[in-house]
Amino acid sequence: MVKETTYYDILEVKPSATLDELKKAYRKLALKYHPDKNPNEGERFKQISQAYEVLSNPEKRRIYDQGGEQALKEGGLGGGGFSSPMDIFDMFFGMGGRGRGRERKRAKDVMHQLSVTLEELYRGSVRKLKLQKNVICNKCEGRGGKKGSVQICPVCRGSGMQVQIQQLAPGMIQQIQTVCGECRGQREIIDPKDRCKVCQGKKVVRDRKILEVHVDKGMMDGQKIVFSGEGDQEPDLEPGDLIIILQEKEHDVFKRSGNDLVIRLTIELVEALCGFQKVIRTLDDRDIVITVMPGEVTKHAEVKSVLNEGMPMYKNPFEKGQLIIQFLVNFPNRIPPEVIPALENCLPPRPMVEIPELAEECTLMDLDPDQENRRRRGAHGQAYEEDDDQPGMNRVQCATS
Ligand SMILES: [Zn+2]
Ligand SMILES: [Zn+2]
Repeated sequence: MVKETTYYDILEVKPSATLDELKKAYRKLALKYHPDKNPNEGERFKQISQAYEVLSNPEKRRIYDQGGEQALKEGGLGGGGFSSPMDIFDMFFGMGGRGRGRERKRAKDVMHQLSVTLEELYRGSVRKLKLQKNVICNKCEGRGGKKGSVQICPVCRGSGMQVQIQQLAPGMIQQIQTVCGECRGQREIIDPKDRCKVCQGKKVVRDRKILEVHVDKGMMDGQKIVFSGEGDQEPDLEPGDLIIILQEKEHDVFKRSGNDLVIRLTIELVEALCGFQKVIRTLDDRDIVITVMPGEVTKHAEVKSVLNEGMPMYKNPFEKGQLIIQFLVNFPNRIPPEVIPALENCLPPRPMVEIPELAEECTLMDLDPDQENRRRRGAHGQAYEEDDDQPGMNRVQCATS
């Protein structure tokens, strides 16, 4: 039992979630609530990041499960101890170090999640994606205004920042650096009358674009497809990349496990004992037949595999994984007593059971989990209380009574 579920709730997972499930949840939510897509959900983005930071670390997760957020704070692991949501995001999506330290002159990457079915990953598909991105304004060629109308901001002298001095108390002065109010951090100003009418001086405009995404056979959940230079454009910067992240939808029948596919197949008891044939419809709509010859017995929960009927391997699609089949045997609830002698004749003989003279007869009942719990909670003595005597039964004295 975990003490609190807040972090789990934020990531929309169960407290029993595996690391894989946590990653999936973070990926989905972080892309959805990234400030680029949802500028008003900054707080939500931060919460998602913090929840993921704690739960993806086994030590922090253990502390949180036992003692909640309070325990993290006491251990010096919570409160101010979180990484910046953007760092977590960059690290997760493999862009660590981008834009920090060694400044790369590139505009931002645009991320997009694409939901694909298992059939699409099996067969490969081409998806058309409608996207919006910033492109350099054609009218002003990215200047923001008429030629020669752009001036370095006289207030901040082109730094984009202003330093303000605040007196907190007599003799106590604080220097605060703020974004320049004149140019709003843009480092330059354009006379309103010369401002470009198309982009309103922003130098870029939103552009809709339809993109063809080739989903190749065997691609994986979470795999990235990168369109180099198709991200946002900004003046004087190289354009960023457009990154498509695949999200595999769950399939009703097949579960994917790496390059293997796993299914559960229910068979009747007669099939388990006497052999059977089954038809399985593959992800590319072929029918394959599996046969268990008469004489072979299939046990409940037994697992078998068909080679080369799993997922195609990425970049090597003629090679495929295995199809792993788990058989579930459907036992009949009752068998008519009159057929039992005939049935017994066909089955391996039952073992002889010798019943000692003083053996106690007892009743076998179906186990009712609710009743079992009530019984355990009940008074100690009651659970051991004996029933009324039944005639003709040998009883052993209970040592405690
Ligand atoms: Zn313009
Ligand atoms: Zn300025």
